[in-house]
Amino acid sequence: MIIATDDLEVACPKCQRAGEIEGTPCPACSGKGVILTAQGYTLLDFIQKHLNK
Ligand SMILES: [Zn+2]
Repeated sequence: MIIATDDLEVACPKCQRAGEIEGTPCPACSGKGVILTAQGYTLLDFIQKHLNK
């Protein structure tokens, strides 16, 4: 199975990947510039769950 980055995250609709709006971190994406897709959340949850062991 191949997962592309675009399958995991998409550009933030508020700041368009800038990560900030007028000098302050974008509240919609917490300054990341991207937001997770459902598949991205699934992968992140999986990794976090197993990293904590
Ligand atoms: Zn944003």
